[in-house]
Amino acid sequence: MAILEDPLRLVIGDKAAKPLDRVLELRTVGDLLRHYPRRYETRGELTDLASLRDGEYVTVQAVIAKVTSRPMRGKRGTIFEATVTDGRGQLVLTFFSRGRQDWRERQLAPGLHGLFSGQVSTFRGKRQLAHPDYELLGAGDDAARAAAEYAAEIIPVYRASKEITSWQIAASVRIALDVLDIQDPMPRAIRKRHGLCSLADALRGIHRPIDLADVRRSTQRLKWDEAFLLQTVLAQRRLAATAYSATPRPRVPDGLLDAYDARLPFELTVGQELAGAQISDEIAVDHPMHRLLQGEVGSGKTVIAVRAMLQVVDGGGQAVLLAPTEVLAQQHFRSITEQLGPLAQAGQLGAAERATRVALLTGSLGAAARRRALLEAASGEAGIVIGTHALLEEQVQFAELGLVVIDEQHRFGVEQRDALRDKAGDGRPHLLVMTATPIPRTVAMTVFGDLEISTLTELPAGRAPIFTHVVPAAEKPHYLERVWERLREEAAQGRQSYVVCPRIGGDGPEGPDDDSTGQDGGPVVGSTGGGGRDGRGRGDGGPDDSGRDDGGRDDGGGDDGGGDDGGPDDGGLYDGGLYAESARPPLAVLDLAAELGRGPLAGLRLAVLHGRLPPDEKDRAMLAFAQGSMDVLVTTTVVEVGVDVPNATAMVIMDADRFGVSQLHQLRGRVGRGSHEGLCLLVTEAEADSKSRQRLDTVAGTLDGFKLSRLDLEQRREGDVLGAAQAGRRSSLKLLTLLKDEELIGRARREATELVSADPALAGYPALASALRVLLDQERAEYLEKA
Ligand code: ADP
Ligand code: MG
Repeated sequence: MAILEDPLRLVIGDKAAKPLDRVLELRTVGDLLRHYPRRYETRGELTDLASLRDGEYVTVQAVIAKVTSRPMRGKRGTIFEATVTDGRGQLVLTFFSRGRQDWRERQLAPGLHGLFSGQVSTFRGKRQLAHPDYELLGAGDDAARAAAEYAAEIIPVYRASKEITSWQIAASVRIALDVLDIQDPMPRAIRKRHGLCSLADALRGIHRPIDLADVRRSTQRLKWDEAFLLQTVLAQRRLAATAYSATPRPRVPDGLLDAYDARLPFELTVGQELAGAQISDEIAVDHPMHRLLQGEVGSGKTVIAVRAMLQVVDGGGQAVLLAPTEVLAQQHFRSITEQLGPLAQAGQLGAAERATRVALLTGSLGAAARRRALLEAASGEAGIVIGTHALLEEQVQFAELGLVVIDEQHRFGVEQRDALRDKAGDGRPHLLVMTATPIPRTVAMTVFGDLEISTLTELPAGRAPIFTHVVPAAEKPHYLERVWERLREEAAQGRQSYVVCPRIGGDGPEGPDDDSTGQDGGPVVGSTGGGGRDGRGRGDGGPDDSGRDDGGRDDGGGDDGGGDDGGPDDGGLYDGGLYAESARPPLAVLDLAAELGRGPLAGLRLAVLHGRLPPDEKDRAMLAFAQGSMDVLVTTTVVEVGVDVPNATAMVIMDADRFGVSQLHQLRGRVGRGSHEGLCLLVTEAEADSKSRQRLDTVAGTLDGFKLSRLDLEQRREGDVLGAAQAGRRSSLKLLTLLKDEELIGRARREATELVSADPALAGYPALASALRVLLDQERAEYLEKA
């Protein structure tokens, strides 16, 4: 008898266990039994051979049509060929041998059914598998097994590879299932309420189903477990969080907040009022706020954050604002200081009565400036501290940290928000995280199970619309000339433009640019396989920072190496360039800026901005552009989030097909921020009806960021959706799809919450508690691996 935690080798033997460990990293009985089939073959239903693509590693079911054997030309040995068919198409299986292959000829007799595994290639116009592995159905070597196999109508097909075939996995699974002895972790009452089969039945049913209904039933149960365990963890965390206390900072009359409101040059939108009131109430109590503020690009989240920060400062606390990039941190610093005017000039002549100070701390400050910022934070002189990842460093201390604000949360992981939170003395600071990449409800329930959510849906009144057009540069080269003309027209009217390229160019490292200055904990939405690795870009925007929705798609989360059916993987489509459709390297800022300056935009004032510039130059370029002393900013995606220059009205995105859908939406959010309408031109060489073009058309067709973000998520795999920020989730969610299983996740959440509130330590549910421990250990292991 074996339990899920038992090492595999004790159950199936060393020889069978080794390749499973090496190739698929399956080490325990549980690992193996959670390696679910990718799909099922119905006995007798042949695989459609026309669907095979060159290069794929496939497992097909087919009938042997004819066999031939001939001597090799010029060499000793024979070539044995078996042609198999699905009734329409044909596939040639080729075997080379030094000697004769009579035994193979006897084995692979015409008329027999079999499973054949190998890599598809084309030789002389014919599809073939060279040296495939095979198993003839109903003719296994071990008689009992063969009988069992034959009785089953449904054949599971596993993700397999050259080194280990689908049926070898099936054989090991069978042994494991035969000796399995498990206690069902799910309380009987819950099982009954939701019509779930037992765990043992589910594991049997998913691996060795009697029919497809069996598969469905089993999948339902296993999905439930994934959702329920996760929700139990989250419910426990929420409960634990309620045990923390926070210093209440109720709104005080005639403080900085009132003075700021009086200075605001506009009316708050209804949404801003509502979210602001919620936040104001929550930081007024002795219990830490945990709130996610999501809102469309340009909906005015920053004002809400500043108002919350001022309420905290009025209450004697400090607030910190963490931004994902240096450019954004600098912009926040500049604009907040400006908006506050005398309110932020404490210690200076002309300061307001209750004035405070705003400090900026980024990784690239000079030593003196850094010392001053650290001192102002530690002494409490600065009521507001703004910065990048540099804020997370240990030396950064606060006198009285009352509020943590995280801008563009999707760029940060949970660890980072915790690192900041830990800088509060006693109790916990209030927490406000903001994002313009909306998160579907189910993802929020799963990833941010401990956050309350406010959503800003409207844009401030008077915003002019943004018009987006796709410019097919390959088909219509003269359109591109028109693009540059448009920018000249904007400039003639005193307006400004962005030109965005996928690459920096020059001698530096290549890849998507991002000036974030420190660890990339892996964004939550739009993470990639590369996310979570420690991209210590140090302000040089190294290409290592691939935790973005444009980088590293090609490694597809790394779990598809030996995919046997091609899977849903269209990854790499909009990789930072490597996999894009055209062969030439993506356009680069440095090259294009030079070219534009000489040619189509000669005479205009061009500025260049990218992550590799030294911080003061970055700041100078951005400042010059913000002040209107530059007409065009040629830049990378460093301007993707947050950058706010209302006089900028046009944006040209070069090689637009290299960017993700949400990313394009974020980028174009940089224009149309004032009262003049915005224009966004998506320049691409992708072919007219390619997938890339369809994506661009979608972006051009809607301004609804929620819709685009959903689309973006649908095109990703679950692990990417959750991101490295949620270590462990990636591997613990195998069957559950967040976008489709909303109803089930909701039910699981309710049940889990109820169970945890009745029995927080799960004392009455030992099997459930131990399943949770396994999940958390796994999560921790992955977290450590990544650190
Ligand atoms: P985002 O939500 O994308 O972070 P910002 O906070 O940067 O948006 O706001 C975008 C612009 O809108 C800023 O220039 C800001 O000053 C302005 N803004 C914010 N709220 C309002 C409002 N109620 N009315 C008019 N303009 C506003
Ligand atoms: Mg913003």
